Amino acid sequence: MEQTFIMIKPDGVQRGLVGEIIGRFEKKGFSLKGLKLITVDRAFAEKHYADLSAKPFFNGLVEYIVSGPVVAMVWEGKGVVATGRKIIGATNPLESAAGTIRGDFAIDIGRNVIHGSDAVESARKEIALWFPEGIADWQSSLHSWIYE
Ligand code: ADP
Repeated sequence: MEQTFIMIKPDGVQRGLVGEIIGRFEKKGFSLKGLKLITVDRAFAEKHYADLSAKPFFNGLVEYIVSGPVVAMVWEGKGVVATGRKIIGATNPLESAAGTIRGDFAIDIGRNVIHGSDAVESARKEIALWFPEGIADWQSSLHSWIYE
């Protein structure tokens, strides 16, 4: 089953959006496979965002991510990478549709509350980076009520 890496960024934690965000993924029917509250250092944040290192906003982005604890998660389910991105909404919250997490809870692109992997391959890399200890091995007993 497909997995994705979802991170509630420091602003989402500080603003008390953790329960709301987890609830949206749970209610959709996806399964929580990994979860931790963690404050990362600069080197770790730079590694996570290595693909963006040439961008002018890179330094500010890294400072934002290290500014407080984040909630790192692995969610599993059919199509969870692409659908997770839809639940999150467009990168710029002023362009995110209402009903998405960024559309409902954010304004600035540099304070957009949440990260989600953009492809199955980047999800695999991000899960390995954030959960080197591995993730939980369980399956929801609701499986046959969610999947036909
Ligand atoms: P996404 O998080 O939607 O996959 P990107 O991978 O393009 O988007 O960018 C990673 C993160 O970098 C964004 O979520 C946002 O926090 C930040 N970011 C992107 N573009 C900008 C920008 N122009 N100015 C400030 N921060 C930005």
